[in-house]
Amino acid sequence: MSYVDEVIEAVERENANEPEFIQAVREVLDSIRPVVEANEAAYRRDALLERIVNPEREIKFRVPWIDDNGNVHVNNGYRVQFSSAIGPYKGGLRLHPSVNIGIIKFLGFEQVFKNSLTGLPIGGGKGGSDFDPKGKSDREIMAFCQSFMSELCKYIGAYTDVPAGDIGAGPREIGYMFGQYKKLRGLFEGVLTGKGLSYGGSLTRREATGYGLLYLTDEMLRRNGIDIKGKTVLVSGSGNVAIYAVEKAIELGAKVLTVSDSNGWVYDPEGIDLNALKEIKEVKRQRLTEYKKYRPDSEYHEGKGVWSVKADIALPCATQNELELDDAKILVANGVIAVAEGANMPTTLEATKYLQENGVLFAPGKAANAGGVATSALEMSQNSERLSWSFEKVDTKLKDIMVNLFDNIDDVAKKYGFPGNYVVGANIAGFEKVVDAMNAQGIV
Ligand code: NDP
Repeated sequence: MSYVDEVIEAVERENANEPEFIQAVREVLDSIRPVVEANEAAYRRDALLERIVNPEREIKFRVPWIDDNGNVHVNNGYRVQFSSAIGPYKGGLRLHPSVNIGIIKFLGFEQVFKNSLTGLPIGGGKGGSDFDPKGKSDREIMAFCQSFMSELCKYIGAYTDVPAGDIGAGPREIGYMFGQYKKLRGLFEGVLTGKGLSYGGSLTRREATGYGLLYLTDEMLRRNGIDIKGKTVLVSGSGNVAIYAVEKAIELGAKVLTVSDSNGWVYDPEGIDLNALKEIKEVKRQRLTEYKKYRPDSEYHEGKGVWSVKADIALPCATQNELELDDAKILVANGVIAVAEGANMPTTLEATKYLQENGVLFAPGKAANAGGVATSALEMSQNSERLSWSFEKVDTKLKDIMVNLFDNIDDVAKKYGFPGNYVVGANIAGFEKVVDAMNAQGIV
């Protein structure tokens, strides 16, 4: 049996209750086969892949907090410090009832290669809790965030591990966590990114993942002789990534037809009204059922369905495994040209394969949504030099990073004989840098 297959089998055996982690490992290891086969004896001797698939550290803790009626609740808190080969651990904190150790491990594993691809000195990690921020009062959110940080603060720091937001953890949650870190550690330092602008945050961080997704998509289309202007776009989700993907897509001259949340989805044949979307989601924190009040000609549908609309480009920006094989078949039947992942692992392995086999340009999340973490690294740089850069400066750097990243994955895909396969390109390019750093640092 090949070394890759041996390690995949071991991961499946040792993490049997963690399907998302197994899926992420399988995707990466399958596509780095050419590199591993060329170095099989040395990698096997050094247990290189075993060290790649096992996190350096997994931390689990109890998070007790008191609700507005005086009742005590206990949630699980996690931080997985996956790899510090190329820099301090870096990756977001997800607050969602579906969070468990397998979800955090899959996200941390992906983060290692994504962070490597940015070209910036950041390792990979991820954390979060099964706490559900939905429907909680501000005071309850603060109580949870303070309790979560009371424990997490023992393991993080500006030079060791720098968390950020993710699903359910936006500026409000990051603010409460930063306040508690500062109180307990007595340090005002760049320990979290996605901070507010008045206390060390970076301009463009809020927009970065969505903008970066469009910069990369635009570049991928351009290299394939296609102009994004005038194209129709499907977006899923209506959170941070989705909103700023919609904004940049409109700016680039495309028309966005859909957005969704966990209850349903909106189809607006005239193009999504960005101001209405921001008002509903960012200001009023309401459900998408409200959208029709702003745009009477739009349609609201309960459940899943974004991928059934005919369009040129699909941008899944909600959550893992939201685009399945049946969705991919409909997209292809409707003539989709490109799929780029704003979310982490939103496309199942079967759906990815089907899209690629049918000639759809496919940009995997670890490349396409890397603009968020890249800009977080720029926030770290600004915090270290005690300066704040202008919106234009950060945005220009973000665009450069995404274009260089595309160049890199495109070149690597060609070099290994898989031209146009950006999954292979991203996984090998991300992997090679991490391996180089690991080899230089010895068995640690
Ligand atoms: P938000 O919490 O801001 O928004 C998430 C959106 O996805 C919401 O519209 C939410 O709907 C929807 N959603 C979440 N879970 C589900 C689910 N199980 N089923 C259906 N819809 C769901 O998160 P972000 O926009 O920050 O993150 C979205 C994705 O992008 C995630 O995969 C995240 O890991 C990834 N990502 C985020 C980055 C960032 O900078 N924020 C960086 C890189 C990747 P509802 O409101 O109803 O829950």
